[in-house]
Amino acid sequence: MPNIYDPQKYTIEDRPMENFLDADEIWDILQRNENPDPGRVREVIARSLDKNRLTLEETAVLINANTPELIDEIKNGARELKEKVYGKRIVLFAPLYIGNLCINNCAYCGFRADNKKQKRLTLSTDDIRNEVMALEDAGHKRLILVFGEHPKYDAQFIADTVRQVYRIKHLNGEIRRVNINAAPFDIEGFKTVKDAGIGTYQIFQETYHKETYLKVHLGGKKRDFDWRITSLDRAQEAGIDDVGIGALLGLYDWRFEIMGLLRHVNHFEAVYNVGPHTISFPRIKTASGFKVRDDYNVSDEDFTRLVAILRLAVPYTGLILTAREPAHIRDEVLQFGVSQIDGGTNIEMKGYSKQKEQQDLDQEQFSIGDNRSLNEVMDELIGHGYLPSFCTACYRLKRTGEHFMEFSVPGFIKRFCQPNAILTMAEYLEDYAPPETREKGYRLIQDNLKEYSDDQFRGKLIQRLERIKRGERDLYF
Ligand code: SAM
Ligand code: SF4
Repeated sequence: MPNIYDPQKYTIEDRPMENFLDADEIWDILQRNENPDPGRVREVIARSLDKNRLTLEETAVLINANTPELIDEIKNGARELKEKVYGKRIVLFAPLYIGNLCINNCAYCGFRADNKKQKRLTLSTDDIRNEVMALEDAGHKRLILVFGEHPKYDAQFIADTVRQVYRIKHLNGEIRRVNINAAPFDIEGFKTVKDAGIGTYQIFQETYHKETYLKVHLGGKKRDFDWRITSLDRAQEAGIDDVGIGALLGLYDWRFEIMGLLRHVNHFEAVYNVGPHTISFPRIKTASGFKVRDDYNVSDEDFTRLVAILRLAVPYTGLILTAREPAHIRDEVLQFGVSQIDGGTNIEMKGYSKQKEQQDLDQEQFSIGDNRSLNEVMDELIGHGYLPSFCTACYRLKRTGEHFMEFSVPGFIKRFCQPNAILTMAEYLEDYAPPETREKGYRLIQDNLKEYSDDQFRGKLIQRLERIKRGERDLYF
């Protein structure tokens, strides 16, 4: 990789990742913005509502706003931004665990090599077929495939798995976008998975605090902090510009991790001119042989607050929330601008085709907090006026940077995202929903159609809805 670090040219806002993690510098920024004046906090919120991405200094102001009144103002700001920019769409996806063999020893993960209780399994092609068919039969169109780190799961294996998943079609079902969460490759490896047509390549740094990183990553290749922190730079060099970053909350102070995530975004924007597509911020959960420690535990209050801060800090980056969180937390933070959630999640190997009631922690990575079926999640979202979306149009039409376009191109959401959400939701209502959800869903669609004052466009959308009712599928703008 070329050495792009030039201390004259780069500030802490955009310095390349391998040189950036000066923990003291991040703590300095946090400390010098302690006890911010309420006026300053309001100024920062207003900058975000004015469609600016916040700097590290500004984000530190929000992180340090500790009074209940200011926290409420931050949450209200995030709500306003979400309403103003993104509307009511929520994209739905499901994770599919392909294999839990792992050479690493991440202290917090049930798949770690030393966990002898974990039953090891790699799905066969028949298993994958059964799982994907079960997911399609529930109504899913977007998957993220998850892998442990193991020589068996090399780039070719992952690419072959992605191609297989795209080929599996059952009744009207098909998977239209396959994302990946797997250990990082070298540049050649990233090229191999890119050629298989992946959507987003997602990888979490876990913690941006190197000292902590070394304490919890006890062995295996993942212990190499620098290899991990530069993975998405190698992905970019291989031509993968759709990437997802994340931090596992509960390993170190969440304030530092939010700054680390933002720092990572800055780096991408400075060096590649495009930010990451998504940010994930899972809270650490109990896993087989692992109990969550109290010291850096993120409370529900802090968690909901940090989601609002992230929304304001990076207004045009997708935020992903997973079934690690219980339904009531999901429902609250959806209002602050989470753009994607998983539904009907089962992280047990072969779990979708089996559908057991109880989780078996020796067969999976950690415990999940939301066991509702996809339809239960859909039904509730619709009941709250959200538009669940399975849209994959931007990816299929090679319109990259979709989040940025949603945010910055006037009318983009109205002409593309919202109608595509309506069309994919109609497919779901036709093919998978029980009668009550179907009725509720079509009522919501009717309400949304009223928002289109352009008769010609509304006419086009209604025509497409009619075609879906007559059996056509995969229509989009
Ligand atoms: N093995 C690859 C890796 O480590 O990057 C990819 C798959 S790993 C199964 C996906 C993510 O699960 C990890 O990046 C980590 O953040 C998350 N994870 C692991 N243990 C967890 C736990 N106990 N609670 C919540 N998330 C966890
Ligand atoms: Fe393996 Fe990933 Fe789990 Fe670490 S987090 S033990 S690398 S599966």
